[in-house]
Amino acid sequence: MLPKDKFYHEGEFSVSDCLFCKIAAGEIPAKKVYEDERVFAFHDIEPQAPTHFLVIPKEHIPSCGAVTPANSAVVGHIFEVIARVAEELGMSDFRVVSNCGPQAGQSVAHLHFHVLGGRDMTWPPG
Ligand code: AMP
Ligand code: ZN
Repeated sequence: MLPKDKFYHEGEFSVSDCLFCKIAAGEIPAKKVYEDERVFAFHDIEPQAPTHFLVIPKEHIPSCGAVTPANSAVVGHIFEVIARVAEELGMSDFRVVSNCGPQAGQSVAHLHFHVLGGRDMTWPPG
C-alpha cells in the first residue's frame, strides 16, 4: 500500500511510479484480457474468485473519488468493456467492485474496477 501522505497528496505522487500506469503501458507484464486506446483489462495477480480481472483507464485517475466531469466518460466505457469481457469469459453473474481509499481497501492508487465471478458471493462485503 502507498504511504498515506503519498496517496492523499497527489503532488508528491509521481505517475511514473504508478504500477497500473506501467501495466497499461506494457512496461510490466500482465495477463491481458482486453485493450483499446482508452482502457486495459487484465487478470488479478491474486485472484479472489475463479475469475477475477481488473479494468483500468490508461489515463492516471487515482480513484473513484477523483472522477470528475472532465474524465468520467472513460468510466462509462469501462462498464461497456466489463460487460463485453464478462460475456467472452462466460461469466453470467459477477460482481464489480472499486475500493476508494485505504480504509476501503484500495492498495493501488490508480482507478480500477475488480470483476469477480465463478462462485457464490456474500453480502455485506467485509
Ligand atoms: P485494490 O486493493 O482494490 O487497490 O486492488 C488492487 C489489486 O491489484 C489487488 O487485487 C491485487 O491483487 C492486484 N495487483 C497488484 N499487483 C498486480 C499485478 N502486478 N498484476 C495484476 N494484479 C495486481
Ligand atoms: Zn497510474
